[in-house]
Amino acid sequence: MATVPKSTAPLRPAGVAPLVPRIAPREELNPFRIAQIQFDMAAEFLKLDPSLRQILRTPKRVLEVSVPTKMDNGQVKVLTGYRVQHNVARGPGKGGIRYHPNVTLDEVKAMAAWMTWKTAAVNVPFGGAKGGVICDPKRMSKSELERMTRRYASEILPIIGPDQDIPAPDMYTDAQTMAWIMDTYAMTVGHAAPGVVTGKPLSVGGSAGRTDATARGLLCVVEEACKLKKIPLRGASVAIQGFGNVGSAAARLFAEKKARIVAISDTRGGVANPRGIDPIKAIRYKERSGTVVGMPGASRISNDDLLTMKCDILVPAALEGVLTLHNADQVKARIVAEAANGPTTPHADEVLVRRGITILPDILTNAGGVTVSYFEWVQNQQGLIWDAEEVDARLQKTMTRAFHEMLETMRKHHVPPRAGAMILAVGRVAEATLVRGLFP
Ligand code: GLU
Repeated sequence: MATVPKSTAPLRPAGVAPLVPRIAPREELNPFRIAQIQFDMAAEFLKLDPSLRQILRTPKRVLEVSVPTKMDNGQVKVLTGYRVQHNVARGPGKGGIRYHPNVTLDEVKAMAAWMTWKTAAVNVPFGGAKGGVICDPKRMSKSELERMTRRYASEILPIIGPDQDIPAPDMYTDAQTMAWIMDTYAMTVGHAAPGVVTGKPLSVGGSAGRTDATARGLLCVVEEACKLKKIPLRGASVAIQGFGNVGSAAARLFAEKKARIVAISDTRGGVANPRGIDPIKAIRYKERSGTVVGMPGASRISNDDLLTMKCDILVPAALEGVLTLHNADQVKARIVAEAANGPTTPHADEVLVRRGITILPDILTNAGGVTVSYFEWVQNQQGLIWDAEEVDARLQKTMTRAFHEMLETMRKHHVPPRAGAMILAVGRVAEATLVRGLFP
């Protein structure tokens, strides 16, 4: 093994046998197969029984629905939607709903599995679920989105509920989307039910701190990792791929810590400035022009260039599968903090780990969102209202504890962070499944 600078040692495993090429000889790009490869690795370390493995590597329930939606021109478009519940051994299903033209059932199944591992990694009492509708939300009016959302909600209604499965926002869905789903649910069941979704507007039972929660959780995990690697956050260079809810909030929070945002990007491309980009100006520019491309004081770069540029911290905050064998050997960041779900393929993961790059895994790093979703649900179920300070203090505590539990697992099994987080999470779900026993 190459010599490792002393300062990186605490996040660097010693002598890990590569498992991925054994499990998947060719690079796998299908997100659900990737989720299974990651699970299989953890299952190997935990020496799980084969039948338990079979239960945990497939979703418990898959629902496909047809979503006829009246468009503004009077025509009806029939869209396809999904809700997948991967596992509910530790609590009700939990996970976002994504609106995107490239949604596939396998993507939703992967995301549902990652939610199971995510809720277990931070130890909140939920299972894992995910939903999606194949649509192009950028080309739909607000009233079209409302009609589509209400019909989709009514189609998945039999399997959601505050004790059953609790949706939340994901890509191209937001607090307004959640308000429509909650209203559709409440009108159908005939009583208020704020706990049926999280990420709601504050006026209808949303939680303080939910909008920034994923970015805040990410910052907390990055700060812990930087302490171990002795990288001062002040002055550290940060490149962020994806400038949506999570990416833009992360840019703002990193800048508050005096880190330098050297590049940002969105679907249309990116911009870079080695002296630093002002995230507030970038957010305002994007609000006006729909993209960060063209903002003054920064030069144009591509998304590919951003991923391989020299920086201390690289934050993929967009879609899955962006770090692959194609670019993993060119990544120059010291830390990759996964804000997106599944941005790194297992093969790329091995290349990055071999090169001494610390990958802070999605199931821990972006779990701040679902953690505050849990706080929102607790407040709804108990009729409480917590202020932003209380929510944030609880979030910091949960994320820091989870980070250190991951570290402990890494040390115990001599594995890198993703395997550490997965072993921790899969172990918890396996234990819950075994102690409950098989029904009937
Ligand atoms: N969609 C977010 C995620 O992928 C949040 C899920 C939730 O809050 O339930 O973690």
